[in-house]
Amino acid sequence: MSPQPETESRQEKVFQGAAAPGEPSAELKTLFERKQDHQFLAELDKLPEGAKVKMCIQCGTCGGMCPVTPLLDHSPRRLFAMLRAGMTDEVLDAATPWVCSSCYRCTVNCPAGIKITEVMYALKRRAIQAGRKARSSDYQRFASIFTRIVSRHGRSHEMGLLSRYMMFHHPVAMAKQSGLGMRLMLKGRMPLTQEKIKDREGLRRMAAKALELGEGV
Ligand code: SF4
Ligand code: SF4
Repeated sequence: MSPQPETESRQEKVFQGAAAPGEPSAELKTLFERKQDHQFLAELDKLPEGAKVKMCIQCGTCGGMCPVTPLLDHSPRRLFAMLRAGMTDEVLDAATPWVCSSCYRCTVNCPAGIKITEVMYALKRRAIQAGRKARSSDYQRFASIFTRIVSRHGRSHEMGLLSRYMMFHHPVAMAKQSGLGMRLMLKGRMPLTQEKIKDREGLRRMAAKALELGEGV
């Protein structure tokens, strides 16, 4: 089998009506034309077992057991079908990888052994590299604040995360939720102070190495 080209253009055509008597064939109408981009799919091969995405059997197990399914714009099953169809632009604009809570439930249950959660991370990295922000910008902002806090202190901090995210991006919603925040604080569920790990320099070195190893995908 010859290798699949990484990008190509595809026209979808349908027969428009029956052929008139005496005419050789019915007229073909172009429905749409779009670019097919298989580059990202090819790059996934660099991930450990990344090539398995092409082995998805479309069983739907992943979407069926995902705890955040109602919030996904595409199930992992559909995302992989779109990737195989060369719809990389649409996949990179999807909210799904940003909504994924990295619970690994889909990964441990996928009958094809696809590392679905790792693919979600790869999609997020690529979306950032490609400057894709259109539909997932709010999720990206939240993820970026979370990553900054954890990489600086080695621990998440709900109060810092929520105040920075809500105050700057959803101030009205924050005002509405202030009562709940206060109750959580009083019950000790949302401490004011930020916990820090001891070896933060070690964490920074580890993160830099991970970035270096993960470059490209
Ligand atoms: S569980 Fe695995 S094989 Fe089934 S649809 Fe999801 S990714 Fe594909
Ligand atoms: S890892 Fe992400 S996509 Fe998979 S089940 Fe959990 S939340 Fe859903």
